[in-house]
Amino acid sequence: MTDNVYSTICPGCNFGCGLYIRENGALEIDFRKSSPANAGKLCRFGMNLPKLFAPARSMVDGKETTIEEAAKEAAKRISASKGSVAFLSLGNTTSEELLAFQKIAESSLYTGAVAALPEDTYQTLNIGIPYSEIEAAKHIVLFLDPYEQYPLIVRRLLSAKKKGAKISAVWWKDLPLADENIRPADVSKLALSKDSLIIADYNPLSDTEQVKNVLALAKNAGARITFLKPFANSTGAYLMAKGIKQKSISQLVDDINKGTVKTLFSLESDPLSVISQETLGKLTNLIIQAGQESAVTKKASVVIAHEPLYKKKGTLINNEGRAQALGGAGTSGLEALGIIAGAKFDFLALHESMKKAIGITAVDEFTIPKYERPAYGAIQASVKPIDATTALVSVYNPFMWSGLPDDNDFVELSLKSVQALKLLKGATVKIRSNGSAVEKKFRVAPVQDNILLTGNRFGIEKGIITPVELSR
Ligand code: SF4
Repeated sequence: MTDNVYSTICPGCNFGCGLYIRENGALEIDFRKSSPANAGKLCRFGMNLPKLFAPARSMVDGKETTIEEAAKEAAKRISASKGSVAFLSLGNTTSEELLAFQKIAESSLYTGAVAALPEDTYQTLNIGIPYSEIEAAKHIVLFLDPYEQYPLIVRRLLSAKKKGAKISAVWWKDLPLADENIRPADVSKLALSKDSLIIADYNPLSDTEQVKNVLALAKNAGARITFLKPFANSTGAYLMAKGIKQKSISQLVDDINKGTVKTLFSLESDPLSVISQETLGKLTNLIIQAGQESAVTKKASVVIAHEPLYKKKGTLINNEGRAQALGGAGTSGLEALGIIAGAKFDFLALHESMKKAIGITAVDEFTIPKYERPAYGAIQASVKPIDATTALVSVYNPFMWSGLPDDNDFVELSLKSVQALKLLKGATVKIRSNGSAVEKKFRVAPVQDNILLTGNRFGIEKGIITPVELSR
Protein backbone atom coordinates (compact mmCIF):
# COMPACT_ATOMS: atom_id res chain seq x y z
CA MET A 1 0.00 0.00 0.00
CA THR A 2 1.39 3.44 -0.86
CA ASP A 3 1.27 6.16 1.78
CA ASN A 4 -0.84 9.26 1.21
CA VAL A 5 1.35 12.33 1.64
CA TYR A 6 -0.22 15.79 1.99
CA SER A 7 1.66 19.04 1.63
CA THR A 8 -0.06 21.20 4.22
CA ILE A 9 0.09 24.08 6.71
CA CYS A 10 0.20 23.73 10.50
CA PRO A 11 -3.09 24.88 12.07
CA GLY A 12 -1.39 25.85 15.36
CA CYS A 13 -1.17 29.58 14.64
CA ASN A 14 -1.19 32.13 11.81
CA PHE A 15 2.57 31.88 11.24
CA GLY A 16 1.90 29.62 8.26
CA CYS A 17 4.46 26.83 8.78
CA GLY A 18 4.49 24.32 5.93
CA LEU A 19 4.96 20.57 6.45
CA TYR A 20 4.06 17.18 5.01
CA ILE A 21 1.65 14.84 6.74
CA ARG A 22 1.99 11.20 5.82
CA GLU A 23 -0.82 8.71 6.39
CA ASN A 24 0.92 5.46 7.10
CA GLY A 25 -1.46 3.61 9.40
CA ALA A 26 -0.70 6.31 11.97
CA LEU A 27 -0.02 9.94 10.98
CA GLU A 28 3.59 11.02 10.55
CA ILE A 29 5.17 14.44 10.07
CA ASP A 30 7.78 15.17 7.39
CA PHE A 31 9.60 18.50 7.17
CA ARG A 32 8.99 20.76 4.15
CA LYS A 33 12.23 22.69 3.79
CA SER A 34 10.95 24.75 0.85
CA SER A 35 8.18 26.34 2.93
CA PRO A 36 8.83 30.13 2.91
CA ALA A 37 7.46 30.81 6.41
CA ASN A 38 9.45 28.22 8.37
CA ALA A 39 12.04 26.60 6.04
CA GLY A 40 10.93 23.18 7.31
CA LYS A 41 11.24 23.88 11.04
CA LEU A 42 8.30 23.17 13.37
CA CYS A 43 7.64 24.01 17.00
CA ARG A 44 6.55 21.57 19.71
CA PHE A 45 2.91 22.01 18.67
CA GLY A 46 3.66 21.32 15.00
CA MET A 47 5.52 18.17 15.99
CA ASN A 48 2.46 17.06 17.99
CA LEU A 49 -0.01 17.45 15.11
CA PRO A 50 -0.76 13.71 14.82
CA LYS A 51 -2.30 13.96 18.32
CA LEU A 52 -4.51 16.87 17.22
CA PHE A 53 -5.97 15.04 14.23
CA ALA A 54 -8.00 12.43 16.14
CA PRO A 55 -10.89 11.87 13.69
CA ALA A 56 -14.30 13.24 14.67
CA ARG A 57 -17.56 11.28 14.14
CA SER A 58 -20.82 12.86 12.98
CA MET A 59 -23.39 12.69 15.79
CA VAL A 60 -26.90 13.85 16.63
CA ASP A 61 -27.75 13.88 20.34
CA GLY A 62 -25.02 11.36 21.11
CA LYS A 63 -25.93 8.91 18.30
CA GLU A 64 -23.51 8.35 15.44
CA THR A 65 -24.81 9.22 11.99
CA THR A 66 -23.60 10.24 8.52
CA ILE A 67 -22.24 13.71 7.76
CA GLU A 68 -25.26 14.36 5.47
CA GLU A 69 -27.78 13.44 8.20
CA ALA A 70 -25.92 15.56 10.77
CA ALA A 71 -25.89 18.54 8.37
CA LYS A 72 -29.63 18.09 7.65
CA GLU A 73 -30.37 17.99 11.40
CA ALA A 74 -28.24 21.12 11.91
CA ALA A 75 -30.19 22.86 9.12
CA LYS A 76 -33.49 21.95 10.83
CA ARG A 77 -32.36 23.22 14.23
CA ILE A 78 -30.91 26.43 12.78
CA SER A 79 -34.11 27.16 10.93
CA ALA A 80 -36.25 26.32 14.03
CA SER A 81 -34.30 28.83 16.15
CA LYS A 82 -34.27 31.60 13.52
CA GLY A 83 -33.44 34.93 15.16
CA SER A 84 -31.50 33.32 18.03
CA VAL A 85 -28.66 31.59 16.14
CA ALA A 86 -25.03 32.67 16.26
CA PHE A 87 -22.35 31.56 13.83
CA LEU A 88 -18.83 31.35 15.16
CA SER A 89 -15.62 30.96 13.22
CA LEU A 90 -12.27 32.02 14.58
CA GLY A 91 -10.45 31.38 11.30
CA ASN A 92 -9.19 27.84 11.52
CA THR A 93 -10.37 26.74 8.12
CA THR A 94 -10.00 27.58 4.44
CA SER A 95 -10.91 30.97 3.02
CA GLU A 96 -13.32 29.23 0.64
CA GLU A 97 -15.23 27.57 3.53
CA LEU A 98 -15.27 30.89 5.41
CA LEU A 99 -16.87 32.62 2.40
CA ALA A 100 -19.57 29.91 2.29
CA PHE A 101 -20.08 30.18 6.06
CA GLN A 102 -20.64 33.94 5.82
CA LYS A 103 -23.41 33.40 3.29
CA ILE A 104 -25.21 31.21 5.85
CA ALA A 105 -24.43 33.44 8.82
CA GLU A 106 -25.65 36.71 7.28
CA SER A 107 -25.86 39.20 10.15
CA SER A 108 -25.07 36.78 13.00
CA LEU A 109 -21.38 36.21 12.35
CA TYR A 110 -19.08 36.23 15.34
CA THR A 111 -15.35 36.07 14.71
CA GLY A 112 -12.13 36.92 16.43
CA ALA A 113 -11.37 39.52 13.79
CA VAL A 114 -13.21 42.42 15.35
CA ALA A 115 -13.17 44.09 18.72
CA ALA A 116 -14.10 47.44 20.20
CA LEU A 117 -11.25 49.12 18.36
CA PRO A 118 -11.26 51.97 15.85
CA GLU A 119 -12.05 50.72 12.37
CA ASP A 120 -9.04 52.49 10.88
CA THR A 121 -6.77 50.10 12.86
CA TYR A 122 -8.29 46.88 11.44
CA GLN A 123 -5.85 46.53 8.54
CA THR A 124 -2.84 47.07 10.84
CA LEU A 125 -4.23 44.63 13.39
CA ASN A 126 -4.98 41.91 10.90
CA ILE A 127 -2.28 41.98 8.25
CA GLY A 128 1.23 41.52 9.54
CA ILE A 129 4.44 42.64 7.90
CA PRO A 130 6.65 40.18 5.96
CA TYR A 131 8.99 38.20 8.23
CA SER A 132 11.93 39.45 6.12
CA GLU A 133 11.15 42.97 7.45
CA ILE A 134 11.41 41.65 11.01
CA GLU A 135 14.85 40.25 10.20
CA ALA A 136 15.90 43.64 8.81
CA ALA A 137 14.64 45.75 11.77
CA LYS A 138 17.05 47.80 13.90
CA HIS A 139 15.05 47.80 17.13
CA ILE A 140 12.43 45.15 17.91
CA VAL A 141 10.05 45.49 20.85
CA LEU A 142 8.21 42.36 21.98
CA PHE A 143 4.87 42.57 23.77
CA LEU A 144 4.59 38.76 23.84
CA ASP A 145 6.61 35.67 24.72
CA PRO A 146 7.81 34.41 21.32
CA TYR A 147 9.06 31.06 22.68
CA GLU A 148 5.68 30.18 24.17
CA GLN A 149 3.20 31.85 21.82
CA TYR A 150 4.67 31.93 18.29
CA PRO A 151 7.86 29.84 18.46
CA LEU A 152 8.86 30.08 14.80
CA ILE A 153 9.29 33.87 15.10
CA VAL A 154 12.32 33.20 17.33
CA ARG A 155 14.49 32.25 14.32
CA ARG A 156 13.62 35.58 12.66
CA LEU A 157 14.42 37.49 15.86
CA LEU A 158 17.78 35.75 16.26
CA SER A 159 18.59 36.52 12.64
CA ALA A 160 17.74 40.23 13.23
CA LYS A 161 19.91 40.20 16.34
CA LYS A 162 22.82 38.73 14.39
CA LYS A 163 22.51 41.67 12.00
CA GLY A 164 22.78 44.09 14.94
CA ALA A 165 19.16 44.61 16.02
CA LYS A 166 18.47 45.54 19.64
CA ILE A 167 15.61 43.58 21.18
CA SER A 168 13.50 45.00 24.01
CA ALA A 169 10.85 42.90 25.75
CA VAL A 170 7.89 44.30 27.67
CA TRP A 171 6.85 41.15 29.48
CA TRP A 172 6.34 39.58 32.90
CA LYS A 173 9.41 37.38 32.47
CA ASP A 174 12.96 38.09 31.26
CA LEU A 175 13.29 36.70 27.75
CA PRO A 176 16.72 35.19 26.96
CA LEU A 177 16.99 36.85 23.54
CA ALA A 178 16.13 40.34 24.78
CA ASP A 179 18.86 42.97 25.36
CA GLU A 180 16.47 44.90 27.59
CA ASN A 181 13.66 43.45 29.74
CA ILE A 182 10.96 45.87 30.93
CA ARG A 183 7.99 44.84 33.09
CA PRO A 184 4.55 45.79 31.68
CA ALA A 185 3.92 48.21 34.58
CA ASP A 186 7.16 50.07 33.66
CA VAL A 187 6.30 50.48 29.98
CA SER A 188 6.91 54.25 30.29
CA LYS A 189 10.66 53.38 30.45
CA LEU A 190 10.51 52.03 26.88
CA ALA A 191 12.29 54.30 24.40
CA LEU A 192 10.85 54.05 20.88
CA SER A 193 11.84 55.74 17.64
CA LYS A 194 10.86 55.46 14.01
CA ASP A 195 13.44 52.66 13.73
CA SER A 196 11.48 50.55 16.23
CA LEU A 197 9.25 47.67 15.25
CA ILE A 198 6.68 46.53 17.82
CA ILE A 199 5.54 42.89 17.71
CA ALA A 200 2.39 42.14 19.72
CA ASP A 201 -0.30 39.48 19.96
CA TYR A 202 -3.89 40.01 18.80
CA ASN A 203 -6.43 37.34 19.65
CA PRO A 204 -10.19 37.13 20.34
CA LEU A 205 -9.54 37.49 24.09
CA SER A 206 -7.05 40.37 23.81
CA ASP A 207 -7.55 43.18 26.30
CA THR A 208 -8.81 46.03 24.12
CA GLU A 209 -7.07 48.73 26.18
CA GLN A 210 -3.75 46.87 25.98
CA VAL A 211 -4.08 46.62 22.19
CA LYS A 212 -4.96 50.33 22.00
CA ASN A 213 -1.96 51.06 24.17
CA VAL A 214 0.56 49.38 21.86
CA LEU A 215 -1.10 50.97 18.82
CA ALA A 216 -0.81 54.38 20.53
CA LEU A 217 2.86 53.76 21.46
CA ALA A 218 3.68 52.96 17.83
CA LYS A 219 1.67 55.91 16.50
CA ASN A 220 3.22 58.44 18.88
CA ALA A 221 6.79 57.31 18.13
CA GLY A 222 6.29 56.87 14.37
CA ALA A 223 7.32 53.21 14.90
CA ARG A 224 6.08 50.24 12.89
CA ILE A 225 3.82 47.66 14.50
CA THR A 226 2.80 44.11 13.58
CA PHE A 227 0.48 41.69 15.37
CA LEU A 228 0.78 37.90 15.43
CA LYS A 229 -2.47 35.93 15.58
CA PRO A 230 -3.47 32.48 16.84
CA PHE A 231 -5.44 30.70 14.09
CA ALA A 232 -4.16 29.19 10.84
CA ASN A 233 -6.32 31.51 8.73
CA SER A 234 -6.80 34.49 11.08
CA THR A 235 -5.63 36.85 8.33
CA GLY A 236 -7.87 35.15 5.75
CA ALA A 237 -10.84 35.39 8.12
CA TYR A 238 -10.36 39.17 8.26
CA LEU A 239 -9.79 39.60 4.53
CA MET A 240 -12.74 37.40 3.52
CA ALA A 241 -15.12 39.20 5.91
CA LYS A 242 -13.85 42.74 5.26
CA GLY A 243 -16.80 45.12 5.19
CA ILE A 244 -19.19 42.51 6.64
CA LYS A 245 -20.86 43.30 9.94
CA GLN A 246 -19.48 41.06 12.68
CA LYS A 247 -19.72 40.78 16.43
CA SER A 248 -17.03 40.14 18.99
CA ILE A 249 -16.62 37.17 21.32
CA SER A 250 -17.55 39.23 24.39
CA GLN A 251 -20.83 40.18 22.65
CA LEU A 252 -21.47 36.49 21.94
CA VAL A 253 -20.90 35.60 25.60
CA ASP A 254 -23.35 38.39 26.62
CA ASP A 255 -25.91 37.25 24.04
CA ILE A 256 -25.81 33.61 25.26
CA ASN A 257 -26.03 34.71 28.90
CA LYS A 258 -28.99 37.01 28.11
CA GLY A 259 -30.70 34.17 26.21
CA THR A 260 -30.88 36.07 22.89
CA VAL A 261 -28.60 33.41 21.38
CA LYS A 262 -29.91 29.86 21.93
CA THR A 263 -28.21 27.98 19.10
CA LEU A 264 -24.51 28.23 18.31
CA PHE A 265 -23.05 26.86 15.09
CA SER A 266 -19.28 26.75 15.23
CA LEU A 267 -17.14 26.05 12.18
CA GLU A 268 -13.68 24.53 12.84
CA SER A 269 -13.34 26.55 16.05
CA ASP A 270 -13.34 25.35 19.63
CA PRO A 271 -15.89 27.52 21.50
CA LEU A 272 -14.38 26.28 24.79
CA SER A 273 -11.23 28.24 23.95
CA VAL A 274 -13.16 31.53 24.16
CA ILE A 275 -16.40 30.81 26.08
CA SER A 276 -16.74 29.18 29.50
CA GLN A 277 -18.39 25.79 29.89
CA GLU A 278 -20.99 27.42 32.15
CA THR A 279 -22.07 29.85 29.39
CA LEU A 280 -22.05 27.16 26.69
CA GLY A 281 -24.28 25.04 28.97
CA LYS A 282 -27.06 27.67 28.57
CA LEU A 283 -27.45 26.91 24.84
CA THR A 284 -30.32 24.80 23.53
CA ASN A 285 -28.24 23.61 20.58
CA LEU A 286 -24.48 23.48 20.20
CA ILE A 287 -23.66 22.54 16.63
CA ILE A 288 -20.02 21.84 15.87
CA GLN A 289 -18.63 21.33 12.39
CA ALA A 290 -15.06 20.09 12.76
CA GLY A 291 -12.35 17.90 11.32
CA GLN A 292 -11.18 16.43 14.60
CA GLU A 293 -12.53 15.22 17.89
CA SER A 294 -12.04 17.47 20.92
CA ALA A 295 -13.56 18.12 24.34
CA VAL A 296 -16.27 20.24 22.69
CA THR A 297 -17.34 17.65 20.07
CA LYS A 298 -18.15 15.38 23.04
CA LYS A 299 -20.54 18.03 24.44
CA ALA A 300 -22.22 19.11 21.18
CA SER A 301 -25.84 18.28 20.31
CA VAL A 302 -24.88 17.97 16.64
CA VAL A 303 -21.41 17.17 15.30
CA ILE A 304 -20.81 17.50 11.57
CA ALA A 305 -17.54 15.65 11.10
CA HIS A 306 -15.76 16.59 7.90
CA GLU A 307 -12.18 15.85 6.79
CA PRO A 308 -9.24 17.20 8.82
CA LEU A 309 -7.63 20.41 7.59
CA TYR A 310 -4.69 18.64 5.90
CA LYS A 311 -7.10 16.74 3.62
CA LYS A 312 -9.01 19.87 2.57
CA LYS A 313 -8.86 21.68 -0.71
CA GLY A 314 -8.56 25.42 -0.24
CA THR A 315 -6.44 28.39 0.72
CA LEU A 316 -5.06 29.77 3.97
CA ILE A 317 -3.56 33.24 4.32
CA ASN A 318 -0.72 33.56 6.79
CA ASN A 319 0.24 36.47 9.00
CA GLU A 320 2.29 38.09 6.25
CA GLY A 321 -0.70 37.89 3.88
CA ARG A 322 0.82 35.01 1.88
CA ALA A 323 -1.82 32.84 0.19
CA GLN A 324 -0.98 29.17 0.82
CA ALA A 325 -2.74 26.26 -0.89
CA LEU A 326 -3.61 23.20 1.15
CA GLY A 327 -2.61 20.02 -0.66
CA GLY A 328 -5.78 17.98 -0.08
CA ALA A 329 -8.79 17.42 -2.32
CA GLY A 330 -11.52 17.21 0.34
CA THR A 331 -14.64 19.33 0.09
CA SER A 332 -16.97 17.48 2.48
CA GLY A 333 -16.97 20.49 4.82
CA LEU A 334 -18.15 22.71 1.98
CA GLU A 335 -20.78 20.16 0.96
CA ALA A 336 -22.14 20.06 4.53
CA LEU A 337 -22.35 23.86 4.52
CA GLY A 338 -24.28 23.56 1.22
CA ILE A 339 -26.85 21.27 2.90
CA ILE A 340 -27.29 23.86 5.67
CA ALA A 341 -27.57 26.73 3.15
CA GLY A 342 -30.07 24.74 1.07
CA ALA A 343 -27.93 25.23 -2.07
CA LYS A 344 -24.66 23.65 -3.16
CA PHE A 345 -21.51 25.79 -2.97
CA ASP A 346 -19.22 25.83 -5.98
CA PHE A 347 -15.58 25.56 -4.83
CA LEU A 348 -14.20 27.27 -7.94
CA ALA A 349 -16.52 30.26 -7.61
CA LEU A 350 -15.53 30.67 -3.95
CA HIS A 351 -11.86 30.30 -4.88
CA GLU A 352 -12.22 33.11 -7.45
CA SER A 353 -13.91 35.32 -4.82
CA MET A 354 -11.02 34.59 -2.43
CA LYS A 355 -8.46 35.65 -5.07
CA LYS A 356 -10.45 38.81 -5.82
CA ALA A 357 -10.62 39.68 -2.11
CA ILE A 358 -6.82 39.75 -1.86
CA GLY A 359 -6.13 41.01 -5.37
CA ILE A 360 -4.25 37.99 -6.78
CA THR A 361 -4.66 36.03 -9.97
CA ALA A 362 -2.99 32.82 -8.73
CA VAL A 363 -2.12 31.28 -5.36
CA ASP A 364 1.66 31.40 -5.01
CA GLU A 365 3.09 30.92 -1.53
CA PHE A 366 6.40 32.46 -2.58
CA THR A 367 4.91 35.87 -3.37
CA ILE A 368 3.38 38.18 -0.81
CA PRO A 369 0.56 40.24 -2.34
CA LYS A 370 0.74 44.02 -1.84
CA TYR A 371 -1.48 45.17 1.01
CA GLU A 372 -2.20 48.72 2.05
CA ARG A 373 -1.15 49.64 5.57
CA PRO A 374 -3.13 52.84 6.04
CA ALA A 375 -2.21 55.18 8.91
CA TYR A 376 -4.65 55.13 11.81
CA GLY A 377 -5.76 58.11 13.88
CA ALA A 378 -4.66 59.12 17.37
CA ILE A 379 -5.65 56.60 20.05
CA GLN A 380 -6.28 57.04 23.76
CA ALA A 381 -5.84 53.96 25.94
CA SER A 382 -6.70 53.59 29.60
CA VAL A 383 -4.83 50.48 30.69
CA LYS A 384 -5.87 49.25 34.11
CA PRO A 385 -3.00 48.41 36.45
CA ILE A 386 -3.11 44.93 38.05
CA ASP A 387 -4.59 45.77 41.44
CA ALA A 388 -4.25 42.27 42.94
CA THR A 389 -1.15 41.57 45.00
CA THR A 390 -0.70 38.25 43.15
CA ALA A 391 -1.98 37.29 39.71
CA LEU A 392 -1.98 34.30 37.39
CA VAL A 393 -1.20 35.34 33.81
CA SER A 394 -2.38 32.99 31.04
CA VAL A 395 0.05 33.01 28.14
CA TYR A 396 -2.15 31.85 25.27
CA ASN A 397 -0.36 29.42 22.98
CA PRO A 398 -1.27 26.90 20.24
CA PHE A 399 -1.99 24.12 22.77
CA MET A 400 -4.48 26.32 24.65
CA TRP A 401 -6.28 27.58 21.55
CA SER A 402 -6.72 24.09 20.13
CA GLY A 403 -7.59 22.36 23.43
CA LEU A 404 -4.70 19.91 22.94
CA PRO A 405 -3.30 18.76 26.31
CA ASP A 406 0.26 19.95 26.84
CA ASP A 407 2.97 18.15 28.80
CA ASN A 408 4.17 21.49 30.26
CA ASP A 409 1.63 21.37 33.08
CA PHE A 410 3.33 23.79 35.52
CA VAL A 411 3.40 27.44 36.54
CA GLU A 412 6.47 29.65 36.48
CA LEU A 413 7.27 31.91 39.40
CA SER A 414 10.26 33.81 40.75
CA LEU A 415 12.79 32.45 43.23
CA LYS A 416 11.74 35.18 45.68
CA SER A 417 8.10 34.01 45.49
CA VAL A 418 9.18 30.36 45.97
CA GLN A 419 11.23 31.34 49.03
CA ALA A 420 8.46 33.53 50.49
CA LEU A 421 5.98 30.64 50.18
CA LYS A 422 8.57 28.16 51.49
CA LEU A 423 7.85 25.86 48.55
CA LEU A 424 9.95 22.72 48.50
CA LYS A 425 11.73 21.46 45.38
CA GLY A 426 9.54 18.98 43.50
CA ALA A 427 6.43 19.94 45.54
CA THR A 428 3.36 21.82 44.30
CA VAL A 429 1.88 25.26 44.82
CA LYS A 430 -1.82 25.75 45.74
CA ILE A 431 -3.51 28.42 43.64
CA ARG A 432 -6.88 29.78 44.78
CA SER A 433 -9.26 32.05 42.91
CA ASN A 434 -12.89 32.86 43.75
CA GLY A 435 -13.51 29.72 45.79
CA SER A 436 -11.79 27.36 43.32
CA ALA A 437 -8.35 25.90 43.93
CA VAL A 438 -5.80 23.88 41.97
CA GLU A 439 -2.45 22.40 42.91
CA LYS A 440 0.25 22.70 40.30
CA LYS A 441 3.90 21.89 39.86
CA PHE A 442 6.08 24.98 39.61
CA ARG A 443 9.28 26.01 37.94
CA VAL A 444 11.55 28.84 39.03
CA ALA A 445 12.01 31.41 36.26
CA PRO A 446 12.98 35.10 35.99
CA VAL A 447 9.36 36.17 36.42
CA GLN A 448 7.99 39.34 38.07
CA ASP A 449 7.61 38.63 41.81
CA ASN A 450 3.81 38.87 42.15
CA ILE A 451 3.07 37.00 38.92
CA LEU A 452 2.60 33.31 38.02
CA LEU A 453 2.83 32.49 34.34
CA THR A 454 1.10 29.54 32.75
CA GLY A 455 0.71 28.19 29.24
CA ASN A 456 -2.11 25.93 30.44
CA ARG A 457 -5.75 26.28 31.44
CA PHE A 458 -6.63 25.30 34.98
CA GLY A 459 -10.33 26.19 34.98
CA ILE A 460 -9.96 28.97 37.58
CA GLU A 461 -9.04 31.74 35.12
CA LYS A 462 -11.04 34.95 34.74
CA GLY A 463 -9.51 36.11 31.48
CA ILE A 464 -5.83 36.70 30.76
CA ILE A 465 -5.05 38.04 34.26
CA THR A 466 -6.64 36.32 37.27
CA PRO A 467 -6.11 37.55 40.86
CA VAL A 468 -5.07 34.55 42.97
CA GLU A 469 -3.89 33.56 46.45
CA LEU A 470 -0.99 31.15 46.87
CA SER A 471 0.07 28.70 49.53
CA ARG A 472 2.20 25.57 49.84
S1 SF4 B 1 2.09 26.31 15.96
FE1 SF4 B 1 2.59 28.11 14.72
S2 SF4 B 1 4.81 28.36 14.98
FE2 SF4 B 1 4.32 26.26 15.66
S3 SF4 B 1 4.64 24.97 13.83
FE3 SF4 B 1 2.46 25.54 13.90
S4 SF4 B 1 2.30 27.39 12.57
FE4 SF4 B 1 4.49 27.10 13.13
